[in-house]
Amino acid sequence: MSSHFNIHDLKKQMKKSVRERPDGVLPYKKSTKKAIAGRDLRASEWDDFEERRDRATQRRQEAIDTLPDLHDQLRERWEERGIVVHEAKDTNEAQQHILKIIRNVKADRILKSKSMLSEEIEINDFLEKNSITPVETDLGEYIVQLRGEHPSHITMPAMHLLREDVGQLFAEKLGVEYTDDPPTLTKIAREALRKEFLAAQVGMCGVNFAVAESGHLATVTNEGNGRMVTSQARVVIALMGWERVTQSLEDLGELWQLLARSATGQRATVYLNLLSGPSPGPTGPDEVHVVIVDNGRKRIHQDPTMREVLRCIRCGACLNVCPVYRQVGGHPYGGVYPGPIGAVLTPALHGTREAPDHAFASSLCGACEDICPVKIPLPKLLLHQRHQKVEDKKNRGFDAEEVIWSTFAKATESGAVFSSFGRAASVLQKVVPGGSVPMPQWQKGRTAPAFPKQSFRQWYEQNKRETGREKDE
Ligand code: SF4
Repeated sequence: MSSHFNIHDLKKQMKKSVRERPDGVLPYKKSTKKAIAGRDLRASEWDDFEERRDRATQRRQEAIDTLPDLHDQLRERWEERGIVVHEAKDTNEAQQHILKIIRNVKADRILKSKSMLSEEIEINDFLEKNSITPVETDLGEYIVQLRGEHPSHITMPAMHLLREDVGQLFAEKLGVEYTDDPPTLTKIAREALRKEFLAAQVGMCGVNFAVAESGHLATVTNEGNGRMVTSQARVVIALMGWERVTQSLEDLGELWQLLARSATGQRATVYLNLLSGPSPGPTGPDEVHVVIVDNGRKRIHQDPTMREVLRCIRCGACLNVCPVYRQVGGHPYGGVYPGPIGAVLTPALHGTREAPDHAFASSLCGACEDICPVKIPLPKLLLHQRHQKVEDKKNRGFDAEEVIWSTFAKATESGAVFSSFGRAASVLQKVVPGGSVPMPQWQKGRTAPAFPKQSFRQWYEQNKRETGREKDE
Protein backbone atom coordinates (compact mmCIF):
# COMPACT_ATOMS: atom_id res chain seq x y z
CA MET A 1 0.00 0.00 0.00
CA SER A 2 1.25 3.45 -0.86
CA SER A 3 0.31 5.07 2.44
CA HIS A 4 -1.39 4.15 5.67
CA PHE A 5 -4.96 5.19 6.27
CA ASN A 6 -6.28 6.21 9.63
CA ILE A 7 -9.84 7.26 10.42
CA HIS A 8 -8.56 10.19 12.53
CA ASP A 9 -6.54 11.48 9.56
CA LEU A 10 -9.67 11.36 7.45
CA LYS A 11 -11.63 13.34 10.03
CA LYS A 12 -8.84 15.93 10.24
CA GLN A 13 -8.79 16.15 6.48
CA MET A 14 -12.54 16.81 6.43
CA LYS A 15 -11.89 20.06 8.33
CA LYS A 16 -8.61 20.86 6.60
CA SER A 17 -9.90 20.41 3.05
CA VAL A 18 -12.49 23.13 3.59
CA ARG A 19 -9.95 25.52 5.14
CA GLU A 20 -7.20 24.82 2.64
CA ARG A 21 -8.68 26.56 -0.37
CA PRO A 22 -8.83 30.34 0.03
CA ASP A 23 -12.05 30.43 -2.02
CA GLY A 24 -13.59 27.64 0.08
CA VAL A 25 -14.50 25.76 -3.13
CA LEU A 26 -14.27 22.00 -3.01
CA PRO A 27 -13.74 20.91 -6.64
CA TYR A 28 -14.77 17.32 -5.99
CA LYS A 29 -18.11 18.50 -4.59
CA LYS A 30 -18.99 20.26 -7.83
CA SER A 31 -17.63 17.57 -10.15
CA THR A 32 -19.30 14.67 -8.37
CA LYS A 33 -22.63 16.51 -8.43
CA LYS A 34 -22.28 17.04 -12.17
CA ALA A 35 -21.35 13.40 -12.75
CA ILE A 36 -24.39 12.17 -10.80
CA ALA A 37 -26.72 14.51 -12.69
CA GLY A 38 -25.31 13.13 -15.97
CA ARG A 39 -25.69 9.56 -14.77
CA ASP A 40 -29.32 10.15 -13.74
CA LEU A 41 -30.11 11.72 -17.10
CA ARG A 42 -28.64 8.78 -19.02
CA ALA A 43 -30.38 6.27 -16.76
CA SER A 44 -33.71 7.98 -17.45
CA GLU A 45 -33.20 7.50 -21.21
CA TRP A 46 -33.58 3.74 -20.87
CA ASP A 47 -36.96 2.39 -19.81
CA ASP A 48 -35.26 -0.87 -18.96
CA PHE A 49 -32.33 0.60 -17.02
CA GLU A 50 -33.02 -1.58 -13.97
CA GLU A 51 -33.34 -4.73 -16.08
CA ARG A 52 -29.99 -3.91 -17.69
CA ARG A 53 -28.41 -3.48 -14.25
CA ASP A 54 -29.84 -6.83 -13.18
CA ARG A 55 -28.53 -8.51 -16.32
CA ALA A 56 -25.06 -6.97 -15.93
CA THR A 57 -24.99 -7.99 -12.26
CA GLN A 58 -25.89 -11.55 -13.13
CA ARG A 59 -23.40 -11.82 -16.01
CA ARG A 60 -20.58 -10.29 -13.94
CA GLN A 61 -21.30 -12.69 -11.10
CA GLU A 62 -21.36 -15.67 -13.49
CA ALA A 63 -18.00 -14.52 -14.87
CA ILE A 64 -16.54 -14.18 -11.36
CA ASP A 65 -17.86 -17.61 -10.33
CA THR A 66 -16.22 -19.25 -13.36
CA LEU A 67 -12.99 -17.23 -13.49
CA PRO A 68 -10.57 -20.20 -13.55
CA ASP A 69 -12.37 -21.66 -16.61
CA LEU A 70 -12.55 -18.30 -18.36
CA HIS A 71 -8.80 -17.84 -17.81
CA ASP A 72 -8.17 -21.24 -19.47
CA GLN A 73 -10.25 -20.10 -22.43
CA LEU A 74 -8.37 -16.79 -22.58
CA ARG A 75 -4.99 -18.49 -22.59
CA GLU A 76 -5.97 -20.51 -25.66
CA ARG A 77 -7.16 -17.38 -27.49
CA TRP A 78 -4.07 -15.41 -26.52
CA GLU A 79 -1.78 -18.19 -27.71
CA GLU A 80 -3.55 -18.17 -31.10
CA ARG A 81 -3.16 -14.40 -31.26
CA GLY A 82 0.52 -14.37 -30.25
CA ILE A 83 -0.05 -12.53 -26.95
CA VAL A 84 2.55 -13.40 -24.29
CA VAL A 85 1.12 -14.07 -20.82
CA HIS A 86 2.86 -13.29 -17.50
CA GLU A 87 1.24 -14.13 -14.16
CA ALA A 88 2.11 -12.09 -11.07
CA LYS A 89 1.01 -13.21 -7.62
CA ASP A 90 1.93 -9.85 -6.05
CA THR A 91 3.30 -6.35 -6.66
CA ASN A 92 6.90 -7.47 -6.67
CA GLU A 93 6.36 -10.11 -9.34
CA ALA A 94 4.36 -7.71 -11.51
CA GLN A 95 7.12 -5.08 -11.26
CA GLN A 96 9.80 -7.63 -12.19
CA HIS A 97 7.87 -8.89 -15.24
CA ILE A 98 7.43 -5.35 -16.50
CA LEU A 99 11.05 -4.40 -15.91
CA LYS A 100 12.23 -7.48 -17.80
CA ILE A 101 10.04 -6.70 -20.82
CA ILE A 102 11.29 -3.09 -20.94
CA ARG A 103 14.94 -4.08 -20.48
CA ASN A 104 14.67 -6.66 -23.27
CA VAL A 105 14.12 -3.84 -25.76
CA LYS A 106 16.61 -1.53 -23.98
CA ALA A 107 14.03 1.24 -23.53
CA ASP A 108 14.48 4.02 -20.98
CA ARG A 109 10.97 5.54 -21.23
CA ILE A 110 7.50 4.06 -21.29
CA LEU A 111 4.22 5.67 -22.22
CA LYS A 112 1.24 4.86 -20.06
CA SER A 113 -2.48 5.19 -20.53
CA LYS A 114 -4.69 5.25 -17.48
CA SER A 115 -4.56 2.24 -15.17
CA MET A 116 -5.48 2.15 -11.48
CA LEU A 117 -3.77 -1.23 -11.26
CA SER A 118 -0.48 0.43 -12.23
CA GLU A 119 -1.03 2.68 -9.19
CA GLU A 120 -1.73 -0.39 -7.08
CA ILE A 121 1.60 -1.97 -8.03
CA GLU A 122 3.39 1.40 -7.67
CA ILE A 123 4.99 0.96 -11.03
CA ASN A 124 6.02 4.60 -11.60
CA ASP A 125 8.18 4.80 -8.48
CA PHE A 126 9.65 1.39 -9.20
CA LEU A 127 10.57 2.24 -12.80
CA GLU A 128 12.09 5.57 -11.82
CA LYS A 129 14.28 3.78 -9.30
CA ASN A 130 15.43 1.60 -12.19
CA SER A 131 16.26 4.60 -14.42
CA ILE A 132 13.17 4.24 -16.62
CA THR A 133 10.91 7.26 -17.09
CA PRO A 134 7.15 6.58 -17.05
CA VAL A 135 5.09 9.18 -18.91
CA GLU A 136 1.38 9.40 -18.17
CA THR A 137 -0.66 10.29 -21.26
CA ASP A 138 -4.20 10.57 -19.89
CA LEU A 139 -4.65 14.31 -19.30
CA GLY A 140 -5.76 13.94 -15.68
CA GLU A 141 -2.96 11.46 -14.96
CA TYR A 142 -0.45 13.72 -16.71
CA ILE A 143 -1.52 16.60 -14.45
CA VAL A 144 -1.25 14.61 -11.21
CA GLN A 145 2.09 13.17 -12.32
CA LEU A 146 3.45 16.70 -12.91
CA ARG A 147 2.25 17.65 -9.42
CA GLY A 148 3.89 14.56 -7.88
CA GLU A 149 0.52 13.31 -6.62
CA HIS A 150 -1.65 10.23 -6.99
CA PRO A 151 -5.12 10.24 -8.61
CA SER A 152 -7.93 11.35 -6.32
CA HIS A 153 -10.66 9.53 -8.24
CA ILE A 154 -10.92 6.25 -10.16
CA THR A 155 -12.09 7.76 -13.44
CA MET A 156 -11.27 11.47 -12.97
CA PRO A 157 -7.75 11.52 -11.53
CA ALA A 158 -7.41 15.31 -11.20
CA MET A 159 -10.90 15.92 -9.85
CA HIS A 160 -9.48 17.71 -6.80
CA LEU A 161 -8.09 20.54 -8.94
CA LEU A 162 -9.54 23.66 -10.51
CA ARG A 163 -8.52 24.86 -13.96
CA GLU A 164 -6.59 27.73 -12.29
CA ASP A 165 -4.48 25.08 -10.50
CA VAL A 166 -3.72 23.41 -13.83
CA GLY A 167 -2.84 26.77 -15.44
CA GLN A 168 -0.35 27.52 -12.67
CA LEU A 169 1.09 24.01 -12.87
CA PHE A 170 1.68 24.17 -16.64
CA ALA A 171 3.24 27.66 -16.37
CA GLU A 172 5.60 26.39 -13.67
CA LYS A 173 6.49 22.96 -15.08
CA LEU A 174 6.19 23.42 -18.83
CA GLY A 175 7.38 27.04 -19.05
CA VAL A 176 4.27 28.25 -20.90
CA GLU A 177 2.32 31.45 -20.32
CA TYR A 178 -0.37 31.16 -17.63
CA THR A 179 -3.86 30.47 -18.89
CA ASP A 180 -6.91 28.91 -17.30
CA ASP A 181 -8.69 28.34 -20.59
CA PRO A 182 -9.41 24.56 -20.74
CA PRO A 183 -9.06 24.12 -24.56
CA THR A 184 -5.71 25.98 -24.49
CA LEU A 185 -4.52 23.90 -21.54
CA THR A 186 -5.51 20.71 -23.37
CA LYS A 187 -3.62 21.89 -26.48
CA ILE A 188 -0.49 22.55 -24.41
CA ALA A 189 -0.61 19.02 -22.96
CA ARG A 190 -1.32 17.52 -26.37
CA GLU A 191 1.71 19.22 -27.90
CA ALA A 192 3.97 18.03 -25.09
CA LEU A 193 2.66 14.46 -25.37
CA ARG A 194 2.64 14.24 -29.17
CA LYS A 195 6.46 14.10 -29.26
CA GLU A 196 6.38 11.31 -26.70
CA PHE A 197 3.88 9.26 -28.73
CA LEU A 198 5.96 9.51 -31.89
CA ALA A 199 9.11 8.32 -30.11
CA ALA A 200 7.41 5.58 -28.06
CA GLN A 201 9.15 2.24 -27.80
CA VAL A 202 7.11 0.69 -24.99
CA GLY A 203 3.50 1.44 -24.11
CA MET A 204 1.51 0.30 -21.10
CA CYS A 205 -2.28 0.23 -20.85
CA GLY A 206 -4.81 -1.05 -18.36
CA VAL A 207 -7.44 -3.62 -19.25
CA ASN A 208 -11.08 -2.84 -18.55
CA PHE A 209 -12.14 -6.28 -19.74
CA ALA A 210 -10.50 -9.30 -21.35
CA VAL A 211 -13.06 -11.09 -23.53
CA ALA A 212 -12.84 -14.85 -23.00
CA GLU A 213 -14.57 -15.95 -26.22
CA SER A 214 -12.35 -13.83 -28.51
CA GLY A 215 -9.21 -13.00 -26.50
CA HIS A 216 -9.61 -9.23 -27.05
CA LEU A 217 -8.19 -6.84 -24.46
CA ALA A 218 -10.67 -3.98 -24.17
CA THR A 219 -9.76 -0.50 -22.93
CA VAL A 220 -12.22 2.32 -22.51
CA THR A 221 -10.98 5.91 -22.91
CA ASN A 222 -12.16 9.37 -23.85
CA GLU A 223 -8.98 10.96 -25.11
CA GLY A 224 -7.57 8.54 -27.66
CA ASN A 225 -4.34 8.29 -25.72
CA GLY A 226 -4.97 4.60 -25.04
CA ARG A 227 -5.19 3.96 -28.76
CA MET A 228 -2.00 5.97 -29.40
CA VAL A 229 -0.12 4.09 -26.68
CA THR A 230 -1.14 0.68 -28.05
CA SER A 231 -0.63 1.49 -31.74
CA GLN A 232 2.51 3.68 -31.75
CA ALA A 233 4.69 1.69 -29.36
CA ARG A 234 6.51 -1.37 -30.72
CA VAL A 235 6.01 -3.25 -27.46
CA VAL A 236 2.75 -3.10 -25.52
CA ILE A 237 2.23 -4.22 -21.94
CA ALA A 238 -1.41 -4.71 -20.94
CA LEU A 239 -1.79 -4.70 -17.18
CA MET A 240 -4.81 -6.65 -16.01
CA GLY A 241 -6.38 -7.49 -12.67
CA TRP A 242 -7.16 -11.21 -12.41
CA GLU A 243 -10.92 -10.56 -12.17
CA ARG A 244 -11.28 -8.33 -15.26
CA VAL A 245 -12.69 -11.03 -17.51
CA THR A 246 -15.99 -11.04 -19.35
CA GLN A 247 -17.51 -13.92 -21.26
CA SER A 248 -18.41 -12.49 -24.66
CA LEU A 249 -18.28 -9.45 -26.93
CA GLU A 250 -22.03 -9.07 -26.38
CA ASP A 251 -21.49 -8.77 -22.61
CA LEU A 252 -18.68 -6.31 -23.26
CA GLY A 253 -21.10 -4.11 -25.25
CA GLU A 254 -23.59 -4.06 -22.37
CA LEU A 255 -20.98 -3.37 -19.71
CA TRP A 256 -19.30 -0.65 -21.78
CA GLN A 257 -22.54 1.34 -22.04
CA LEU A 258 -23.36 0.90 -18.36
CA LEU A 259 -19.82 1.92 -17.44
CA ALA A 260 -19.92 5.13 -19.50
CA ARG A 261 -23.39 6.11 -18.28
CA SER A 262 -22.56 5.45 -14.63
CA ALA A 263 -19.11 7.05 -14.68
CA THR A 264 -19.47 10.29 -16.60
CA GLY A 265 -23.05 10.41 -17.84
CA GLN A 266 -22.00 9.63 -21.43
CA ARG A 267 -23.99 7.25 -23.64
CA ALA A 268 -20.68 5.69 -24.61
CA THR A 269 -17.05 6.65 -24.16
CA VAL A 270 -15.32 8.25 -27.14
CA TYR A 271 -13.09 5.22 -27.66
CA LEU A 272 -13.49 1.51 -27.10
CA ASN A 273 -10.12 0.02 -27.99
CA LEU A 274 -9.93 -3.71 -28.71
CA LEU A 275 -6.35 -4.91 -28.64
CA SER A 276 -6.13 -8.18 -30.51
CA GLY A 277 -2.40 -8.96 -30.53
CA PRO A 278 0.77 -8.07 -32.42
CA SER A 279 0.30 -6.51 -35.84
CA PRO A 280 2.87 -6.80 -38.63
CA GLY A 281 1.82 -3.51 -40.30
CA PRO A 282 3.29 0.00 -39.90
CA THR A 283 0.96 0.75 -37.00
CA GLY A 284 0.37 -1.68 -34.21
CA PRO A 285 2.84 -3.36 -31.90
CA ASP A 286 5.37 -6.08 -32.70
CA GLU A 287 4.91 -7.59 -29.24
CA VAL A 288 1.92 -7.69 -26.89
CA HIS A 289 2.38 -8.86 -23.31
CA VAL A 290 -0.39 -9.24 -20.78
CA VAL A 291 0.59 -9.13 -17.11
CA ILE A 292 -2.17 -10.65 -14.94
CA VAL A 293 -1.98 -9.44 -11.35
CA ASP A 294 -3.45 -11.38 -8.43
CA ASN A 295 -2.36 -9.25 -5.42
CA GLY A 296 -5.05 -10.73 -3.14
CA ARG A 297 -7.81 -11.17 -5.71
CA LYS A 298 -7.71 -14.98 -5.63
CA ARG A 299 -8.00 -14.84 -1.84
CA ILE A 300 -11.08 -12.59 -2.12
CA HIS A 301 -12.50 -15.06 -4.64
CA GLN A 302 -12.44 -17.80 -2.01
CA ASP A 303 -14.54 -15.75 0.45
CA PRO A 304 -18.20 -16.24 -0.61
CA THR A 305 -19.26 -12.93 0.98
CA MET A 306 -16.44 -10.71 -0.26
CA ARG A 307 -16.40 -12.30 -3.71
CA GLU A 308 -19.14 -9.93 -4.86
CA VAL A 309 -16.71 -7.00 -4.81
CA LEU A 310 -14.88 -8.56 -7.77
CA ARG A 311 -17.86 -7.62 -9.96
CA CYS A 312 -16.72 -3.99 -9.81
CA ILE A 313 -16.27 -2.34 -13.21
CA ARG A 314 -14.50 0.73 -11.73
CA CYS A 315 -17.04 3.30 -12.88
CA GLY A 316 -16.56 5.51 -9.83
CA ALA A 317 -20.29 6.24 -9.41
CA CYS A 318 -20.17 5.13 -5.77
CA LEU A 319 -17.50 7.79 -5.12
CA ASN A 320 -19.60 10.49 -6.79
CA VAL A 321 -22.63 9.76 -4.66
CA CYS A 322 -20.83 9.16 -1.35
CA PRO A 323 -21.32 11.96 1.24
CA VAL A 324 -17.90 11.23 2.75
CA TYR A 325 -16.03 11.27 -0.58
CA ARG A 326 -17.84 14.43 -1.69
CA GLN A 327 -16.56 16.20 1.39
CA VAL A 328 -12.95 14.97 1.57
CA GLY A 329 -12.03 13.89 -1.97
CA GLY A 330 -9.88 10.85 -2.65
CA HIS A 331 -6.48 11.50 -1.09
CA PRO A 332 -7.42 11.14 2.61
CA TYR A 333 -8.32 7.48 1.99
CA GLY A 334 -4.59 6.85 1.75
CA GLY A 335 -4.77 3.76 -0.46
CA VAL A 336 -5.07 3.60 -4.22
CA TYR A 337 -8.83 3.13 -4.42
CA PRO A 338 -10.83 5.85 -2.66
CA GLY A 339 -14.52 6.14 -1.77
CA PRO A 340 -16.88 3.28 -0.91
CA ILE A 341 -15.29 0.79 -3.30
CA GLY A 342 -11.87 1.69 -1.87
CA ALA A 343 -13.16 1.31 1.69
CA VAL A 344 -14.11 -2.28 0.82
CA LEU A 345 -11.40 -3.19 -1.66
CA THR A 346 -8.35 -1.90 0.21
CA PRO A 347 -8.78 -4.11 3.32
CA ALA A 348 -9.98 -6.96 1.11
CA LEU A 349 -6.79 -6.83 -0.95
CA HIS A 350 -4.34 -6.06 1.81
CA GLY A 351 -6.05 -7.51 4.91
CA THR A 352 -7.78 -5.76 7.82
CA ARG A 353 -4.50 -5.57 9.76
CA GLU A 354 -2.90 -3.52 7.01
CA ALA A 355 -6.01 -1.38 6.47
CA PRO A 356 -7.92 -1.58 9.78
CA ASP A 357 -9.93 1.65 9.51
CA HIS A 358 -11.13 1.74 5.92
CA ALA A 359 -14.40 -0.04 6.65
CA PHE A 360 -15.28 2.77 9.09
CA ALA A 361 -14.96 5.53 6.48
CA SER A 362 -18.63 5.29 5.66
CA SER A 363 -21.93 6.47 7.08
CA LEU A 364 -23.59 3.29 5.71
CA CYS A 365 -26.25 5.45 4.08
CA GLY A 366 -26.53 2.95 1.23
CA ALA A 367 -26.30 5.47 -1.65
CA CYS A 368 -23.32 3.57 -3.09
CA GLU A 369 -25.26 0.32 -3.41
CA ASP A 370 -28.26 2.11 -4.91
CA ILE A 371 -26.16 3.60 -7.71
CA CYS A 372 -23.75 0.74 -8.44
CA PRO A 373 -24.43 -0.54 -11.99
CA VAL A 374 -23.55 -4.09 -10.93
CA LYS A 375 -25.35 -3.87 -7.57
CA ILE A 376 -22.42 -4.60 -5.26
CA PRO A 377 -23.84 -4.58 -1.70
CA LEU A 378 -21.12 -2.24 -0.40
CA PRO A 379 -22.75 -1.48 3.01
CA LYS A 380 -23.11 -5.22 3.68
CA LEU A 381 -19.45 -5.77 2.78
CA LEU A 382 -18.36 -2.84 4.99
CA LEU A 383 -20.24 -4.39 7.92
CA HIS A 384 -18.67 -7.76 7.16
CA GLN A 385 -15.22 -6.17 7.32
CA ARG A 386 -16.03 -4.30 10.53
CA HIS A 387 -17.02 -7.64 12.02
CA GLN A 388 -13.76 -9.17 10.76
CA LYS A 389 -11.79 -6.37 12.39
CA VAL A 390 -13.50 -7.04 15.74
CA GLU A 391 -12.71 -10.75 15.42
CA ASP A 392 -9.16 -9.90 14.47
CA LYS A 393 -8.79 -7.73 17.56
CA LYS A 394 -10.17 -10.44 19.82
CA ASN A 395 -7.55 -12.84 18.55
CA ARG A 396 -4.79 -10.35 19.28
CA GLY A 397 -5.37 -10.20 23.06
CA PHE A 398 -5.67 -7.02 25.16
CA ASP A 399 -7.64 -4.22 23.59
CA ALA A 400 -8.52 -1.12 25.67
CA GLU A 401 -11.57 -0.24 23.55
CA GLU A 402 -12.92 -3.76 23.90
CA VAL A 403 -12.44 -3.61 27.72
CA ILE A 404 -14.30 -0.28 27.99
CA TRP A 405 -17.26 -1.45 25.91
CA SER A 406 -17.57 -4.84 27.55
CA THR A 407 -17.49 -3.15 31.00
CA PHE A 408 -20.19 -0.77 29.82
CA ALA A 409 -22.25 -3.70 28.48
CA LYS A 410 -21.96 -5.51 31.83
CA ALA A 411 -22.95 -2.34 33.73
CA THR A 412 -26.10 -1.88 31.66
CA GLU A 413 -27.19 -5.47 32.28
CA SER A 414 -27.79 -4.82 35.98
CA GLY A 415 -29.80 -1.92 37.37
CA ALA A 416 -27.85 -1.93 40.64
CA VAL A 417 -24.45 -1.84 38.94
CA PHE A 418 -25.61 0.84 36.52
CA SER A 419 -26.80 3.02 39.45
CA SER A 420 -23.49 2.62 41.21
CA PHE A 421 -21.73 3.85 38.04
CA GLY A 422 -24.02 6.88 38.09
CA ARG A 423 -23.23 7.59 41.75
CA ALA A 424 -19.51 7.20 41.08
CA ALA A 425 -19.81 9.70 38.23
CA SER A 426 -21.47 12.30 40.51
CA VAL A 427 -18.68 11.89 43.07
CA LEU A 428 -16.11 12.21 40.30
CA GLN A 429 -17.72 15.40 39.15
CA LYS A 430 -17.10 17.00 42.53
CA VAL A 431 -13.42 16.06 42.69
CA VAL A 432 -12.31 16.46 39.05
CA PRO A 433 -11.39 20.02 38.01
CA GLY A 434 -13.78 21.30 35.33
CA GLY A 435 -16.46 18.82 36.32
CA SER A 436 -15.66 16.16 33.73
CA VAL A 437 -13.15 13.42 33.09
CA PRO A 438 -10.15 14.95 31.30
CA MET A 439 -9.80 13.56 27.74
CA PRO A 440 -7.33 15.98 26.12
CA GLN A 441 -7.37 14.41 22.63
CA TRP A 442 -11.15 14.14 22.44
CA GLN A 443 -11.64 17.60 23.94
CA LYS A 444 -9.51 19.34 21.31
CA GLY A 445 -12.54 20.00 19.17
CA ARG A 446 -15.31 19.51 21.71
CA THR A 447 -16.50 20.56 25.12
CA ALA A 448 -17.14 17.56 27.33
CA PRO A 449 -20.53 17.78 29.00
CA ALA A 450 -20.47 17.96 32.79
CA PHE A 451 -22.08 15.06 34.66
CA PRO A 452 -25.59 15.99 35.75
CA LYS A 453 -26.05 16.81 39.44
CA GLN A 454 -28.74 14.19 39.71
CA SER A 455 -29.06 10.94 37.79
CA PHE A 456 -32.25 10.17 35.87
CA ARG A 457 -33.13 7.45 38.37
CA GLN A 458 -32.67 9.82 41.30
CA TRP A 459 -34.80 12.44 39.57
CA TYR A 460 -37.46 9.85 38.78
CA GLU A 461 -37.66 8.64 42.40
CA GLN A 462 -37.79 12.19 43.71
CA ASN A 463 -40.43 13.16 41.17
CA LYS A 464 -42.57 10.19 42.14
CA ARG A 465 -42.34 11.13 45.81
CA GLU A 466 -43.09 14.79 45.24
CA THR A 467 -46.02 14.31 42.92
CA GLY A 468 -47.49 11.56 45.07
CA ARG A 469 -47.60 9.13 42.12
CA GLU A 470 -45.84 6.56 44.26
CA LYS A 471 -49.06 6.02 46.22
CA ASP A 472 -51.13 5.67 43.06
CA GLU A 473 -48.78 2.99 41.72
S1 SF4 B 1 -18.49 -0.53 -6.69
FE1 SF4 B 1 -20.04 -0.25 -8.30
S2 SF4 B 1 -20.34 1.98 -8.35
FE2 SF4 B 1 -18.38 1.64 -7.27
S3 SF4 B 1 -16.81 1.73 -8.83
FE3 SF4 B 1 -17.39 -0.42 -8.65
S4 SF4 B 1 -18.98 -0.73 -10.19
FE4 SF4 B 1 -18.78 1.47 -9.90
